[in-house]
Amino acid sequence: MKPVHKFRKNQPVVWFDRKKEKSNQYCLYCGVPVGIGSEAPSNKEHLIGRQFVPTGSFQEGSQFNFIFRACEVCNSNKSELERHVSSVTLLNSIHKQEKREYVERAISKASRDFHPLKPGVLVKDATDTHVFKFNIGALSMKFEATSPPQVSQQYIRELSFYHVQGLFSLITSKAPDKESGTCLLPESNFWFHRAYNHGDWGNAELTELSKRAEELRCYANINTADGNFKAMLCRIIDKPGCWFWALEWNKHLRVVGGIYSHEECPMIFEGLPAESWKSFGKGSDGVTRRIKEETPLDESNDILFSYEVYSGEGP
Ligand SMILES: [Zn+2]
Repeated sequence: MKPVHKFRKNQPVVWFDRKKEKSNQYCLYCGVPVGIGSEAPSNKEHLIGRQFVPTGSFQEGSQFNFIFRACEVCNSNKSELERHVSSVTLLNSIHKQEKREYVERAISKASRDFHPLKPGVLVKDATDTHVFKFNIGALSMKFEATSPPQVSQQYIRELSFYHVQGLFSLITSKAPDKESGTCLLPESNFWFHRAYNHGDWGNAELTELSKRAEELRCYANINTADGNFKAMLCRIIDKPGCWFWALEWNKHLRVVGGIYSHEECPMIFEGLPAESWKSFGKGSDGVTRRIKEETPLDESNDILFSYEVYSGEGP
């Protein structure tokens, strides 16, 4: 593909410059002008916030990030989303973090941040307890299950939109420092499919999507911050304007979705296998109790972020 503007291997791609005329001319998130003569306050934005991944996981100068100019409103909205998603994903991923200092920082973060869906409750304490009660004949049964803190679905959707917007502009813009050289991704073309916790990365739906994505043309496949941020963007070859994207955050959450024009859902999301549920029979109120069955990933079959980046013409 054509070279990415200001690309250098294993280093951050930097479109930001203190002089507005040398930076990207539009906020890559909302599209307001932030270049020459712009009135909107703007500042330096890191696509992958340095505090989003474990502190210290970015090896300065040898790992990818994307640094550009964004309007202050988007910059601060995104920071707020990152703060929450980071606290919960890092806390849930501590068993996968190889470095002790990452684990300590994750715990300290979750001990300071409050959960947005549970006012006054710290992330580390934001577990949910589910009580199941059954009457089978004369026998009455009750058991409890506790689930770990969960990330707000709305935050996941909004943050994945920011990340995908940045990557989309990065690989499709020819000259972002010129007024007409930037490609932006509007919200109307963004589609969030689903997010999967680590314990469910082997489920039939995500496995099938990973296989289907192998047939697409991969334009970005990123693994940075010691494996705490992964992203890929693939174009659906026979459908102009249609893309599939996937993100992995802090070794805990995978999020997938699409980019498409008009109202047409890309084929890649059609006819996927149904979710698997485990039923516990009927409760005392006559309603069937069930929980979603999670399927762990067999690492040797993990192909989602292993696609070769296309070496031909740009998108
Ligand atoms: Zn903006």
